[in-house]
Amino acid sequence: MNFIPLYNIGSTCYINSVIQVFFNMELLNNKLLEIDVSSDRLLQVYKLLYKQGNLLVNKKISPDDYYKINFLLTNELLKICSFKNEQNDAHEFLIKVLDTITTKEIKKFYSFYFDKIGKCDNCEKEIRYIHTIDNWFGLENIKDEFYGISKRECQNCKKDIIIKNSSISIPNYIIVYNMGNNIRMNFEINDKLYKMYFAICHIGNSASGHYFSIINKNNIYYKLDDTSFSIINTNFLKNVNITTIIYKKINSNNS
Ligand SMILES: [Zn+2]
Repeated sequence: MNFIPLYNIGSTCYINSVIQVFFNMELLNNKLLEIDVSSDRLLQVYKLLYKQGNLLVNKKISPDDYYKINFLLTNELLKICSFKNEQNDAHEFLIKVLDTITTKEIKKFYSFYFDKIGKCDNCEKEIRYIHTIDNWFGLENIKDEFYGISKRECQNCKKDIIIKNSSISIPNYIIVYNMGNNIRMNFEINDKLYKMYFAICHIGNSASGHYFSIINKNNIYYKLDDTSFSIINTNFLKNVNITTIIYKKINSNNS
C-alpha cells in the first residue's frame, strides 16, 4: 500500500477525503502521467500533488518539504474551485472538481449519462428521461435507477411506464451521491459489473464533523484519514455515514 498522506491544513478533511480517492484511481493517474494538462489548471495542480506525494512515499523529498507543497497546492485547489478555507461538504467539493475538469481524456473516465424513452402502457403517453453527470448527482431516485429497481408511473393515469428505448454510457467509474439507504456493493449496467471501490464517509454532525475515505485495494479495505491509514473490516461500513460511493467497472478478464 503506497499511502500518500494529506495534511489537514485547517478543516480540509473534506478535500483530503476526495483527493485520497483520486490518488487511488490507477487508470486515471496512469492516463494523467501520459497527457499534457497545461490548459487544465485543476488537473495540473492535482498532478503536481500526486507526483510530490509519490516522491515522499519513495523518500525522495523530506516530510517538511512535502508539507509545504501540500499546504500550497491544497490552497490552490480551494482557489480554483472557489471554495473558502472552512469546513465544507465533501460531495460538494467533488461535484465542483468533476465539473471544473475540462480535459476530455480524463472526463470520459467518469462522465455518465442515460437517455431513456418510455411509454405508458395505458394512455400511450411518451416520456423521456435524460440524466447526465451535471444533473444526476443529487437526485433522490437516481440510485434506484442505477440499481435497476426504479419504478416509473404515468403522471396521467398512474399506470406503469414501459421503457422502450435506452442508451447509457459505461464509464470506468460511476460516482453516486448516497442518500443514506440500501447501499449496494455491486450492480450491473448492460451486463457490465460495477463494484464499490471507494467511499467518502462522514462522522459527527453538520456543525462539527470529520471526513475520511475508504478504498478497496486487492479486496482489502483501507480507511484513509488525512495523514494516517488502517485496514478495516467491511462490517465497519455498516456503522458509518457513507456520503458518496464510487463504483469501478470490473473487466471480466482482469478484475
Ligand atoms: Zn398513462
